[in-house]
Amino acid sequence: EAVVHWFKRDLRLADNRALHLASEKAKSKSMPLVCMFIVSPQDYQAHCTAAARVDFELRSLEALKPDLEELDIPLHVMVVPKRKEIPEKIIEKCMEWKANHIFCNIEYEVDELRRESLMTQKCLEKGINFTAVHDDVVVAPGQLKTGAGKQFSVYSPWYRAWVAHIHRHPELLDTYERPRKNPDSARKKFKDLFEMSIPSAPENKQLSSEERTRFESMWPAGEHEAEERLQKFLQQKIGKYKDTRNFPAANSTAVISVHLSAGTLAARTAVRMARSANSTQKLDGGNAGISGWISELAWRDFYKHVLAHWPYVCMNKPFKFEYTNIEWEYNDEHFAAWCEGRTGFPIVDAAMRQLNHMGYMHNRCRMIVASFLSKDLLIDWRMGERYFMEHLVDGDFASNNGGWGFSASTGVDPQPYFRIFNPLLQSEKFDPKGEYIRRWVKELENVQGNAVHAPYERGVEKMAKEKGYPRPIVEHKVCRDRALARYKTGLQRD
Ligand code: FAD
Repeated sequence: EAVVHWFKRDLRLADNRALHLASEKAKSKSMPLVCMFIVSPQDYQAHCTAAARVDFELRSLEALKPDLEELDIPLHVMVVPKRKEIPEKIIEKCMEWKANHIFCNIEYEVDELRRESLMTQKCLEKGINFTAVHDDVVVAPGQLKTGAGKQFSVYSPWYRAWVAHIHRHPELLDTYERPRKNPDSARKKFKDLFEMSIPSAPENKQLSSEERTRFESMWPAGEHEAEERLQKFLQQKIGKYKDTRNFPAANSTAVISVHLSAGTLAARTAVRMARSANSTQKLDGGNAGISGWISELAWRDFYKHVLAHWPYVCMNKPFKFEYTNIEWEYNDEHFAAWCEGRTGFPIVDAAMRQLNHMGYMHNRCRMIVASFLSKDLLIDWRMGERYFMEHLVDGDFASNNGGWGFSASTGVDPQPYFRIFNPLLQSEKFDPKGEYIRRWVKELENVQGNAVHAPYERGVEKMAKEKGYPRPIVEHKVCRDRALARYKTGLQRD
């Protein structure tokens, strides 16, 4: 009597594979389509989901609801306090609606995969069909293999295989049509659902009213906003992306990760649209900005393939086991200084303050602060990974875990452990005029010239002190030697 689409991190109508399949199934059976979304406080807690991210999801649902209503499709948002109960609560609802088919898009984290297999089993017991499909990635995990038939663990050959695979299967970039309109009877039948409103954030993930206003204005939600953002980037910025992407003050990246994470934009849509802007009509070659941007989007797929193939990365283990035995410092004061952006290293502090204010940080800065935490401060990278998840509005397990593993040298295809960023050189190279630093570190906004990169060493000590900007909490050279020694000893212990 009904077909259900279970929304997860795919909060859009456009180009949504499972939603499209659900709608086609409903039409073929002359049944209405019903959509649902689960809010689980325990799930948010377990995944360290940032309150700002929860807020973004709920606002995206608010944006989705009227679009569904126009098609006479109801949206039921259900709060399930205990995550273990999610499958049975979904099934209970389906029984109530007499639904005999549930569709959803697959999530690749280990808990979610387990939940999917539990759903399959429980649905089977109740005679309900359950279809979970690949949608979050452009190429499904498991499709790309090395010459020896194994999963790639190095990005460059994987990327070449990814490009070749899509060129061989251009249909992977085809659009899935939006769902069809429900039969008129759906309005009456699901009257209660149409009258329900989207719940507010659970108690453990509430923002203060100041934060709510701030995040709402910085991160307008929903798929229409995502589409507009993408169009603007493709028209105005992508051409120069390759040359400008590393400069945090340049405002030259798409700032679209939040939409890819919540699924208000499909990676497939982003790649397809970028490809059609390229003169070659391909993923590589042609405009360097376009092919460069597509290759960054590919990193997102890469890390999801890694996650799906090596689920232990979800279990607090380093991808490279030989890095299990590094002796970390557990210096609470240093960790707090890093979190709060008061390490005395202006580029690090600017970046952490951007994160704390916006729930977002530029990619170059993510690498700088991750290297600083894991190598200069020798603090366990997992503490940084967790802090990021707790604060990022675009928090995504695979990309975050991959990024931390890369910078801390413990992950898949990482920086070699002896490559240790010098924060001062990074600062001078990627924020040459100090604009990014002055924007985020108010104590240094009036510092002229090069002194902004290292105020205590470059003659503005008095001004920095008066404004309350801290001295560097560590000395890079000393830390560098310590990290080299510790990593080396850790590896020998393996
Ligand atoms: P653009 O430069 O415009 O790139 C377009 C898209 O490509 C991004 O939106 C993103 O989906 C993808 N992408 C770009 N670079 C990467 C990358 N290195 N790895 C994976 N995907 C990439 N990204 C997240 O979405 N969520 C995270 O939780 C996250 N944590 C990170 C943690 C660390 C330590 C590091 C080094 C990187 C992390 N990234 C994460 C990747 C990257 O920093 C962001 O995706 C990017 O900064 C988002 O800005 P943008 O949309 O303007 O990116």
